[in-house]
Amino acid sequence: MLQLEGKMKRILFLALVLFVISCDTKPTKSIDIPSFDFNKAFTYLEKQCEFGPRNPGSVGHSDFSYYLKDFLSDLSGKLTVQEFVYTEPITNIERDGKNFIIQFNQEAKYRLLIGAHWDTRSVSDQDESIDNQSLPVLGANDGASGTAVLMELCNIVSANNPEIGIDVVFFDAEDGGVPGQPDTFALGAKFFAENLPITKPDFAIIVDMVGDKNLTIPIERISYSIAPEKVKEIWGLAEDLSLPAFKKTIQNEIYDDHVPLWEIAEIPAIDIIDFQYPNMFYNYWHTQLDTPENCSAQSLGQVGKLLVSYIYGSTHQ
Ligand SMILES: [Zn+2]
Repeated sequence: MLQLEGKMKRILFLALVLFVISCDTKPTKSIDIPSFDFNKAFTYLEKQCEFGPRNPGSVGHSDFSYYLKDFLSDLSGKLTVQEFVYTEPITNIERDGKNFIIQFNQEAKYRLLIGAHWDTRSVSDQDESIDNQSLPVLGANDGASGTAVLMELCNIVSANNPEIGIDVVFFDAEDGGVPGQPDTFALGAKFFAENLPITKPDFAIIVDMVGDKNLTIPIERISYSIAPEKVKEIWGLAEDLSLPAFKKTIQNEIYDDHVPLWEIAEIPAIDIIDFQYPNMFYNYWHTQLDTPENCSAQSLGQVGKLLVSYIYGSTHQ
């Protein structure tokens, strides 16, 4: 039957047209990426500073720990508080530490840890004024900024169930170390890595000092040696999102919470950190100038947007 009826011809023609159209359309996955409210994140930075310095042993440390626990308890995730006792290297005083871990989408096999330290430093030993050096740091950037990003991220993940498992960890006892002795820092992360209270995550991202008004985030060298492909992917994503703070240059080695996660628990881990606060000519890090005035909501927003896009828009393996 070679001759087709007119109606049949029209059906075949239509089918052919539809076939061509469908072949021409690139397969796309529609992804809804929630937005990161950077102004709200900044209110969390300011709120932490209202408690005063939050170095272990201080009233601010104790008060904020209760505030954070209440905040996390209102969310949909499973909260674990990991308590430990340690000797603070810089003061040689015994302290109580608390890591807060909140897990979202507990059934998911692939798990991403996102961490920051919530404690602040008990001395301003980098301050130019000798009188200031014995005072505790307020930690708007060094402590509150990463914590603020994580708090807003918890709001988002709590309200928008991700495909992967998300373990958000607020580490304590990061900033009580002795200068020049890197492994006296990050003791909360060390305790966590030695006593994993959750299933071992597949990958970890630490954020620290991300509130600087003059935000610049090059690639931290240890992160690149631990997980070069992840670093390329994440800095590539920052480029796709046109986030100006992120620079594709490898710079300093920073001993931060990512190092014990990798060295002790073998969790591939990277650090998103701006280690020039505010720039190469001035220094607010570990001084009395680490205050909210020297931080900005937009800076928190760049890091928050990157993390949200990474969680909801990337393929994880
Ligand atoms: Zn610090």
